[in-house]
Amino acid sequence: MVNPTLLCPICEEKYQVTEFNFNCPEGCDSLPETQYGKYKTTEHEGIWRYLPWLPVEKPNNYQKTPLFIENREFKKMVGKDVVIAFHGYHPEIGADLDTCTFKEIEAVCSLRYAAEQNSNLAMASVGNTANAFLRQSYLEDINTYIFVPEKTHEDLFAVEKSDNAKLIVIKDASYSDAQDIASRFCQREDVSYDGGGKNIARRDSLSTLAYQYQEKYNEMPDHYFQPIGSGTGAIAFYTGSKRLKQNKITDKTPRIHIAQNTPFTPIVDAWNNQTRNLEPVDYNPLDRTYAKVLTNKNPLYSINGGLYDILNKTKGSATTATKKEAKKAGQKFKEIFNIDLYPAAEVGLAALMKTDLQGKILLNITGAGRQKLRQETNAETPEPDYIIEKGDSLNVIK
Ligand SMILES: [Zn+2]
Repeated sequence: MVNPTLLCPICEEKYQVTEFNFNCPEGCDSLPETQYGKYKTTEHEGIWRYLPWLPVEKPNNYQKTPLFIENREFKKMVGKDVVIAFHGYHPEIGADLDTCTFKEIEAVCSLRYAAEQNSNLAMASVGNTANAFLRQSYLEDINTYIFVPEKTHEDLFAVEKSDNAKLIVIKDASYSDAQDIASRFCQREDVSYDGGGKNIARRDSLSTLAYQYQEKYNEMPDHYFQPIGSGTGAIAFYTGSKRLKQNKITDKTPRIHIAQNTPFTPIVDAWNNQTRNLEPVDYNPLDRTYAKVLTNKNPLYSINGGLYDILNKTKGSATTATKKEAKKAGQKFKEIFNIDLYPAAEVGLAALMKTDLQGKILLNITGAGRQKLRQETNAETPEPDYIIEKGDSLNVIK
């Protein structure tokens, strides 16, 4: 086990963390960054190649990584010099993330971190994160408790659900209800709340995309482009680039660009009004938005060290795409690669096509290949381990 050192971007206090409380001890509302030693790669496979820059001591058996893809026809279609960071399932090209999204990378590192901290994990999810933990929990000898609203249950899938993962379906619940119940469950002594983008294991695992790119291309891209829900992936790429620059591995800081799906575009609206403050949303965006994973109402935007600061520092941009634009972009991608994109990835591609950028662009395809997985594997919706009502006692969960 390591006790990572964090730096608060507001008060500049350095402090050590144990378990899952990452907040600044001075009480600042900030997104702290993990402090690591000199850049050094290892002989381990996958993200563990960058083990000295991850908040864990040892790797586990997971060895997969995203792929980089360059394609002339695709570049012509987009009208830009784009490299794809491909997260998804398409074995013909070596893409083997069988939960189909980049959440798999986060889950693997969060599981390792929890295991080293001797803690079980609980979380709430409406989709990709749940799928990632249902499948990958076999990697560590701990239990994971995954709380999902009943109406999202049928969209979940796993090629093989781990026995370590407990799926708890909550009747008549919203995402917020699931979050409340999951955090209430964490009053148990041996269970920690996973904490999403505030969890350094999640963010630092996604930063490995920057190191992987630098190793392959021997420089950083001019731009990084991603559709965002919480913003964790975009923040992580920026942080990874910053670490490489501080270690004099590169002198470039990529500009960070983000996309959201109309009508749920609070970050794009705030950024284009040059304000740190998000307008409150008075409807349930899950009911109206095509790319449902992009509907996080509490993203890491306003928080110090979050997206507002990063877009400012890198002269980034924020762009919207409609459902129609997204589907059209997804169709074009399919014509070239014969791979189906997740709606969020379609939004990212559509927004990139509308944005005027020069130079090398890294586009994060955050999820793909669900149709192929359905055809080629026995992935199915796992049965719940527990079905509960909102007011039920959580003591039934073992
Ligand atoms: Zn502080």
